[in-house]
Amino acid sequence: MMSDFKKDLKEYAKTMGVDLIGFASQERFNGVVPEENPFVIFPEGKTVILIGKRITRGALRGIEEGTNFGDYSMFGSSWLDDNFNSSMCYEMTRYLEDRGYEAVPMFPNPVEAKKMGVPVGEGKTAPNVTPDFQYAAVACGLGEIGYCGEILTPEFGPRQRWQMIITDAEIEQDPILEERVCTQCNKCAKVCPLGAFTERKTVKICGKQMEIGNIDFNLCKKCQNGAFANRLLKSAKPDRLAALCVRTCVHELDVQKKVSNSFKKPFRRHDAWSIDIYDKKRKVKVEQ
Ligand code: SF4
Ligand code: SF4
Repeated sequence: MMSDFKKDLKEYAKTMGVDLIGFASQERFNGVVPEENPFVIFPEGKTVILIGKRITRGALRGIEEGTNFGDYSMFGSSWLDDNFNSSMCYEMTRYLEDRGYEAVPMFPNPVEAKKMGVPVGEGKTAPNVTPDFQYAAVACGLGEIGYCGEILTPEFGPRQRWQMIITDAEIEQDPILEERVCTQCNKCAKVCPLGAFTERKTVKICGKQMEIGNIDFNLCKKCQNGAFANRLLKSAKPDRLAALCVRTCVHELDVQKKVSNSFKKPFRRHDAWSIDIYDKKRKVKVEQ
């Protein structure tokens, strides 16, 4: 049974506009490398709380139609991370600290930032710990890594962004998500005009096994189909949440009724556009 503390916290989160929330205890992070382990930042911490807010389907519309990229980059990306999610995360940390628990708010910095460790002399660098949010989403029972290489949730598929709180409050963890969201349809790979999916691989997090595509992110960095350079660290994996591959997944999960945030009309209403590696524009047939 859920404790009153957790119930009240979840209620409060809802009033703050949190769409997704999940909890994981420290043991679920045993074995995670120190540079990506949230409990290296706060060793006395007991619980990771992951909170998420949806990327509205409409925020992707301008990219899907090829008519407007700018508004997604704010409502679907920078404002969502820097304003909406951050204030929600901050209010949650205040809620916990008002009740006597330390709460560390964490922004989803790219894991590649760990390579930028601060020099501490004699050729050594202090680890710059940047938790792996994909790992945390699975560990908190919120979703799975889909074949497209992004987190899929039963609520929104690939349409969400995350922030994290590490706290010394001991809160019961959520079960690992058992249901499968990814249909393994392979459409994200087939639609990629750059052939960035090479083969498949298996990853296991907290006992959950997932089949994901092996993706050449160097090709994704050249992609002009709605992928963006990571705005925090240019050399990091690009942001693919609005790219053709992931938008194809949004459509697939809509059509297959795999997400609870459903709509009266399908996402993809006509053939999608794509640009290949030679800058040639072509049309991608809608697959229902
Ligand atoms: S498009 Fe299909 S295979 Fe790819 S991630 Fe989505 S559901 Fe999985
Ligand atoms: S981001 Fe672009 S290049 Fe990378 S997998 Fe998606 S469609 Fe292909």
